[in-house]
Amino acid sequence: MDKLSAFLEREHGVFIGGDWVPGRDRFETRNPATGEVLTEVVQADQSLVDQAVDAARAAQPVWANQTPAARSRVLYRLAELVAQHRDELALLETLDNGKPLRESKGGDVPLAAEHFRYYAGWPTKFGGQTNPVSVPGMLNYTLREPVGVVAAIVPWNFPLLIAAWKVAPALAMGNAVILKPAEQTPLTALRLAELAREAGLPDGVLNVVTGDGRTGAALVAHRHVDKVSFTGSTEVGRRIVAGSVANLKRVSLELGGKSANVIFADANLRKAVRGVMMGVFYNQGQVCVAGSRVLVERSIHDQVAELLAAEVEKVRLGDGRDESTTMGPLVSAEQRDRVAGFVRQGREQGARLVAGAEVMDGPGYFFRPGLLATEDASNVCVREEIFGPVAVLMPFDSEEQAVEMANDSEYGLAGGVYTENLGRAHRVAAGIRTGTVWVNTYNAFDAASPFGGYKQSGWGREMGEQALDLYTETKSVWINTK
Ligand code: ADP
Repeated sequence: MDKLSAFLEREHGVFIGGDWVPGRDRFETRNPATGEVLTEVVQADQSLVDQAVDAARAAQPVWANQTPAARSRVLYRLAELVAQHRDELALLETLDNGKPLRESKGGDVPLAAEHFRYYAGWPTKFGGQTNPVSVPGMLNYTLREPVGVVAAIVPWNFPLLIAAWKVAPALAMGNAVILKPAEQTPLTALRLAELAREAGLPDGVLNVVTGDGRTGAALVAHRHVDKVSFTGSTEVGRRIVAGSVANLKRVSLELGGKSANVIFADANLRKAVRGVMMGVFYNQGQVCVAGSRVLVERSIHDQVAELLAAEVEKVRLGDGRDESTTMGPLVSAEQRDRVAGFVRQGREQGARLVAGAEVMDGPGYFFRPGLLATEDASNVCVREEIFGPVAVLMPFDSEEQAVEMANDSEYGLAGGVYTENLGRAHRVAAGIRTGTVWVNTYNAFDAASPFGGYKQSGWGREMGEQALDLYTETKSVWINTK
């Protein structure tokens, strides 16, 4: 991959106004499978953030004034460019994040392309409406206008894909964007900026600033940023709400979760085991929707524990570049130690170890996936988002109790239900207070389906038509026709 080595060997700047701008402070990004340094990127300070915001402000009206068809064509070309660069982007994502290549190549990158393709269709279809007002002689209609300058702050678990969730609808609606990737995984965002320029996006409409939480905080506090779209932890989400009050900018949040997989005795166990394995362990469990509480009807609890333990044994840990790898390393040594800490604490509080859950020797930040079991709803592994490949099994005795247990969380992001009883499937899907419920499956996603959280899992819905609400203001226009 010559192109990729050339990219890694470059002296990276931040992408502002269609050009690379150098920065004084820099930091390293590492390959989590080996611990080796991949390259250095800029730690953007206040002055670079100001420059990015100025560039976005200047470019936004130019972009918004292009015809809907013109914006659509640019987004479509960007979708095609992302798809054409699939191999390169997938390898870059695997090197930076550690996830298996089969996932970055089969999931992250094609899904990101699909998002740009899906939102490329919206500029020519989304608009206001005329309203049947009863004031004599008045015509009233709504316009949907861009919010303006959007800061998109993304995490490290699906770097390119989550960037696409935000950038695609924001651009489709005529906004300018400043994208801030996570400090652990800044590389695909930088490549995306170049592809956007190649697609014909006017300079300044998409800017990328790299840096840690300080760069994010500077964007959040900035008076000329009109909206922040954030995905990350609930803790940082709270800081973002607090930091955004100066100009009361719009804020949407996709935060943590502690989702339940609820398995009834009447379930198809093959589907249930597959759903739980994918729901808990996909992307090394570093997924906000991870179905990490596995609630099982008591009569089949031990059988399900055995089936899952056998599957966990089959997981092949390794470098993501190896095609046989089914689970890569965790993103960093800190993340690995944090996950191990939760397991230790959970066991001290009485949870029983069913399988796995050990730190592996280096190099790389590998952790064997694990299963715990407990009946104690206050156990730390039941309450806290672990953000790693660890699930906790708990028995239940009735449908009512299962729904109650599923809802016993401050989060409300997602959940899974496994049953062959149609009525029960609908009842439990309605009873679980989360933004997404999957029945006899897990982790189904599509650009056309809205995604987001109840309770402390977030504000607003991304994806689908609903995401367009996050990136538009509604203006009501009254015309006196007399
Ligand atoms: P995770 O738990 O997935 O690491 P975080 O919530 O820590 O997620 O980080 C998600 C994103 O938020 C990253 O891009 C990170 O740099 C950024 N971030 C961290 N702290 C802040 C902050 N105080 N203000 C704005 N952004 C922040």
